[in-house]
Amino acid sequence: MTNETPRRLESYLSGAWRTGAGEPKPLFDAATGDIHALIGSEGLDMAAALDWGRTVGGPALRRHTTHERAMMLKTIGLKLLEMKDDFHRESLHTGATPRDAWPDIDGGIGTMLTFASKARRELPNARVLPEGPVEQLSKDGSFVGQHVLSPMLGVAVHINAFNFPVWGMLEKIAPALIAGMPCLVKPASTGAYLAELVARRIIDMGILPDGALQIVCGGVGDLLDHVTEQDVVTFTGSAATGHKLRSHPAIVKNSVRFTMEADSLNASILAPDAVAGTPEFDLFVKEVQREMTSKAGQKCTAIRRVLVPKSQEQAVIDALSAALAKVQPGLPSVAATRMGALASLSDRDTVRAQIARITTDAEIVFGDPDAVSTSSGDPDKGAFMNPVLLHCANSMTATAPHDTEAFGPAATVMGYDGVDEAIALAMKGRGSLVSSVFTNDDTLAAELTLGLAPQHGRVLVGNRDSAKTSTGHGSPLAPLIHGGPGRAGGGEEMGGMRGVKHFMARTAIQGTPRMLAKITGQWVAGAPAQSGMHPFRKSLAELHIGDQLVTARRAITLEDTEHFAKFTGDTFYAHMDEVAAKANPFFDDRVAHGYLIVSFAAGLFVQPDPGPVLANYGIDNLRFLTPVYFGDSLGVQLTCKEISPREGSVYGEVRWDCCVTNQNDEVVAQYDVLTMVAKSWPLPDD
Ligand code: NDP
Repeated sequence: MTNETPRRLESYLSGAWRTGAGEPKPLFDAATGDIHALIGSEGLDMAAALDWGRTVGGPALRRHTTHERAMMLKTIGLKLLEMKDDFHRESLHTGATPRDAWPDIDGGIGTMLTFASKARRELPNARVLPEGPVEQLSKDGSFVGQHVLSPMLGVAVHINAFNFPVWGMLEKIAPALIAGMPCLVKPASTGAYLAELVARRIIDMGILPDGALQIVCGGVGDLLDHVTEQDVVTFTGSAATGHKLRSHPAIVKNSVRFTMEADSLNASILAPDAVAGTPEFDLFVKEVQREMTSKAGQKCTAIRRVLVPKSQEQAVIDALSAALAKVQPGLPSVAATRMGALASLSDRDTVRAQIARITTDAEIVFGDPDAVSTSSGDPDKGAFMNPVLLHCANSMTATAPHDTEAFGPAATVMGYDGVDEAIALAMKGRGSLVSSVFTNDDTLAAELTLGLAPQHGRVLVGNRDSAKTSTGHGSPLAPLIHGGPGRAGGGEEMGGMRGVKHFMARTAIQGTPRMLAKITGQWVAGAPAQSGMHPFRKSLAELHIGDQLVTARRAITLEDTEHFAKFTGDTFYAHMDEVAAKANPFFDDRVAHGYLIVSFAAGLFVQPDPGPVLANYGIDNLRFLTPVYFGDSLGVQLTCKEISPREGSVYGEVRWDCCVTNQNDEVVAQYDVLTMVAKSWPLPDD
């Protein structure tokens, strides 16, 4: 025993830190076996907590815009980074080495910061998000439709696994909070002290409105009995628990949005070209060894099945055995330790039992699941385990290695005959979070990746060119989706702003353009517009949606086009050669350059003096719709479509609808002009 008094974990529910009734359960240090914390949530009022989230947290969050909520997360993330040494110290008790804790702690905070930054770059600063184009539902344009996303009115309940107490919490609350949904986090009991510490620090910061973040340490009691149609439940953990929760009566009855991420028998494939002696073979061996031993193999994305050409089986077994022999478990607090402990002694028992199950179809070729040899630490007290490599000789007919997940430092090598068999073997995992392919052959990479794609949430292709930059098989990244079909739970998380939308309701809105503009806060063609002062003279304080400029017309001549062609070097035949242009099925004659049209349009709508429009940062959705012939006369209708003030900045983004027409009122070009506009003008001095 240490002299440290075990910390009694509390739950933050209904606006206060609360202790459960009854005798708390001990939580042990994974590596020393000492009692590190006590946990229990008996008697805590879960119905009241959900109600608190819905009635206090939700409305408070929804009073803010997406960017304001993202700014809260940025401030929180930066403050958490300053505190990360405390989290790393606490994390040692989970059995994870500092290196293993990096993706959990630094990776978790980084994910939160990435969401905060992407949201401000990619979402409008609004309370409701229009999605996709406006659909014309009538010939005369008087009836249109569009999808909008608005925050769900309930609570996002996040039930997390033990292996990533920080990342698992932050990667889920970040998108939910940006969406405007309050969260109630239930960390796995094992390692809950780390999640509780981080949640406590976030709540203490006072940046989030009360009710936006709650945490229950211990069992959830009757919480799920009280979820309603506006709540969302996300779950990460075992398939058995996931299936039980997914079919909970209240979840089924109320059609509660339920996202599940469960066991996954991820495969890594050595392609036929990557024989021993190639850089890809070495990269493959290194990656499998790393995935088997980082976090002692307790990663949902870890490689469990090692698929190799039959001719390479022995070479892979030899190379992996040599690599694994260098990894001995030890105390995570000792700097030299390469691999820490499993989360608990009972987890080790489970991993041993699972390996025993796999041995019905495979033989152990390296390591002994029952004998522990450590570089430091007491093998009887700590949940240490040495790596175990198995080999399955009848990979296509065997079942155990394809459906038994040993959630520890263990994997099975299996041989395949040809690419189709490699894909068929990977598919036997019946849906995985990730698969990786090691090859330097583009054709093989395409064949294998496309074969794997329908059954995998992510496929990583590794070769010599990305060896130094690859983020690796096991790392889910904030901009990319994390999840997988079938056995992996069928859920999807993160994926950039897709992740935010999981916590919003999608509604198809139909009505007149005027109504739609009012509802979405974005101008749409056909909605009222107002002219007056040139809109480029207006700061954000003065600018309104629908402010419009209709320009004079300008004729396009043969001389303009030839000048532009020579000046830019774009002498494409359709602009320069009458015969060739006429032979082109799209044109009746020589045509003006599309880029000349865009340039002339800018010349027509720009107001040249220094003013609140600070910069043009691009064009979206540019389409040339009607050819422009010499002698045509062009005019522009420029309308303020979307205003997105940037939080913490002196400017914001303005999107302008730009419609260029010819003398017959035919639309020749349509696009959005993107500008940065000062909030006030002149700009403040500093
Ligand atoms: P569990 O399914 O036992 O637990 C996952 C979470 O669910 C924990 O927070 C747990 O809380 C909670 N939980 C358990 N029962 C209930 C219930 N009846 N109602 C509400 N919540 C409940 O998984 P473990 O974390 O113990 O991991 C076991 C296995 O899951 C691993 O061996 C591995 O196979 C798989 N796993 C998969 C992961 C993935 O991302 N795909 C990640 C981690 C694990 P409590 O801890 O308090 O029981």
